[in-house]
Amino acid sequence: MPELPEVETTRRGIEPHLLGRRVERVIVRDRRLRWPIPDDLDSRLSGQRIERVERRAKYLLLGAEAGTLIVHLGMSGSLRLVEGGLPARKHEHVDLLLDSGQALRYTDPRRFGAMLWSGDPLAHPLLVSLGPEPLGEDFDGERLYRLSRGRSMAVKPFIMDNAVVVGVGNIYATEALFAAGIDPRRAAGSVSRARYQRLAEEIRRVLAHAIERGGTTLRDFVGGDGQPGYFQQELFAYGRGGEFCKTCGSTLREVRLGQRASVYCGRCQR
Ligand SMILES: [Zn+2]
Repeated sequence: MPELPEVETTRRGIEPHLLGRRVERVIVRDRRLRWPIPDDLDSRLSGQRIERVERRAKYLLLGAEAGTLIVHLGMSGSLRLVEGGLPARKHEHVDLLLDSGQALRYTDPRRFGAMLWSGDPLAHPLLVSLGPEPLGEDFDGERLYRLSRGRSMAVKPFIMDNAVVVGVGNIYATEALFAAGIDPRRAAGSVSRARYQRLAEEIRRVLAHAIERGGTTLRDFVGGDGQPGYFQQELFAYGRGGEFCKTCGSTLREVRLGQRASVYCGRCQR
């Protein structure tokens, strides 16, 4: 599933090909995404110049003169630039034909993604209640400390709650908790202010690192497909249940928290 770093990598990859370009036509081959693509998307977007390519949480916001195209990649969606008129294969549901001769092509085998039109995207029901960006100024350990007081839920699902902070998916929550030495099962309300400050720093670090990694594959957005931002050999905990801890040599344990597999070291994480 594309996580925040992959979405940011996508944004950086497509931005130079879209900024200032005019959309000549929108070709929708299959409207049936998580919500139907609006019938009038072609008439709303055609003829307009793309002025902004932004991201909020895992939503890409393609800002045109009269409104914004909100794109979510869902479970399996991807965007890339192709030559306009290149025949579409299976699952290549949408093309935005640009005046450069290229097309921005949306592919989504499982069709859990979304492509919606909005005059005010940040006020859209999908976006209005989202918490702060993890790499932005409004997110810090103090926020985690304040929102967690009195909460008995485990700290891992707490930091994965989009109302607390957006974009901390399972892989990044697992790795940040390992790096901060915090047991993912610990009650959110029992973590000290100092430990939340450390955790907030680790969340920023793992996400920034993954974005940097994704950045090495930017060229693939023309013609190819994006790559995940993290490489298997860099992971300390995620996906390593039953293997040895790289720090202390203990066997990593796996539990389920909030319906998600959670791997941790019983010696390094308290
Ligand atoms: Zn360990």
